[in-house]
Amino acid sequence: MNPSQSVPVSVDTLIVHTLVVTMNAERHVIRDGAVAIKGDRIVAVGKSDVVEASVTAREVIDGRRFVVTPGLVNSHIHITGEPLTRGFVPDNIPFDEAVWKWVSPLHFFYTEEDERISAQLAALEMMKSGTTCFLEGGTINHIDAVVDGLNEIGIRGRVGARVSDLSNKPGNPAESTDAAIKILVDEMDRYPCADGARVAAWPILIGHTICSDDLWRAAKQLSLERNAGFSFHMSPVAFDPEWFLANRGRRPLEHLNDLGVLGENVIITHLVHVNDAEVSLLAQTRTSVSHCPTTALKVAYGVTQIGLFPEMADQGVNVAIGTDGNNASNYSDLMRATYLVAGLFKDARRSSKIFPAEQAYAMATLNGAKGLMLQDQIGSLEPGKKADLVLHDTDRPEWRPLLNVANQLVWSADGRGVHSVFVDGVRVIDNYRCTTIDEEQFYRTAQEAAHGITERSGLPHISQWPTI
Ligand SMILES: [Zn+2]
Repeated sequence: MNPSQSVPVSVDTLIVHTLVVTMNAERHVIRDGAVAIKGDRIVAVGKSDVVEASVTAREVIDGRRFVVTPGLVNSHIHITGEPLTRGFVPDNIPFDEAVWKWVSPLHFFYTEEDERISAQLAALEMMKSGTTCFLEGGTINHIDAVVDGLNEIGIRGRVGARVSDLSNKPGNPAESTDAAIKILVDEMDRYPCADGARVAAWPILIGHTICSDDLWRAAKQLSLERNAGFSFHMSPVAFDPEWFLANRGRRPLEHLNDLGVLGENVIITHLVHVNDAEVSLLAQTRTSVSHCPTTALKVAYGVTQIGLFPEMADQGVNVAIGTDGNNASNYSDLMRATYLVAGLFKDARRSSKIFPAEQAYAMATLNGAKGLMLQDQIGSLEPGKKADLVLHDTDRPEWRPLLNVANQLVWSADGRGVHSVFVDGVRVIDNYRCTTIDEEQFYRTAQEAAHGITERSGLPHISQWPTI
């Protein structure tokens, strides 16, 4: 819309007299700014007097108390299998034991209804801390129930059913390759990435060392045919590169590049244990990366010792931010993860120049949008884009004084200050409360479901603190 046109355009919501962090190409921050929303789209962003003169609004929000930003994009999170058993897995055990004795077996004690509740809990936590879109980690067992729950709560996301066709642990089942491919085709038939689809399915493989070459190729081919992205885990610890060198004769990204897997529609999670040649391959193929700093810290990946995320960014690799599962990163607040992205390598390399606040915030918004192939739809506040935005409450101690909004967003504020959130133009969080579900009732349901899962699992409650 051209704000100078003479006939006012009717819009649904107009936020005025606010500080707008646009994340547009020029990174404009607009003082006394306004955002106009019509349906699911942003139709105007600019100075309040200009936008006000060009629209008539059904609802006007006085934005003096707020900083308005694009919704954040969490590029890797497990919304099933972990949210309802968050904190149950001890934090002082080795990676292998955490995955194979705890996290993986626990997931199989989730019922279909548990997965729906788990997905809604993850979505609720994300929305209430300013995340409006996410990419799931490809570990959903009951995708219909999960998509139904996500549609009810109103978040945007890309999800995938659990798929692998090699088993590298006794008792850890895998499908045949044909069955695995059929799961991918079925989920994409049911939840296609059609224009404007808020929740859709991608081929998302667990990855690591439990996929055959045929499955890697088929999933990539399917993603290209269906105009979808393709995502998987790789190289959080040394096991993956060691396995690929021993069994495929090349490092993981070299092998996947030879298979034709890498490319612009691909986002790979972790990639902590990579070498310089693999970083170059990411840059050459324009493959995106999801950096999950909270997981790296808690599960002891060694990210600050050997991670090459600054080198990836320097070479133009699109690095986005994820929070991963709730036993590896017990929170899903992407603002806290962004703080870590900005800080970890400053300390590790003793250089304040690495990942400045402005760059870290772009990784949490624009880079996430690109990683999810939604850069034309979300990631910034610009006319024509989806109305996914966050109102941060500056009537809070951590928001005052407000002198440099980029520094404030990354180094001072976190999800606690998120007052309101719009997804697709719908105010899903209003004055700190979710508008789409009954939160009190939901928390009781989630607690009961968690007790059911942990009891059925037979795993012990382990705490260093005696509970009396
Ligand atoms: Zn993961």
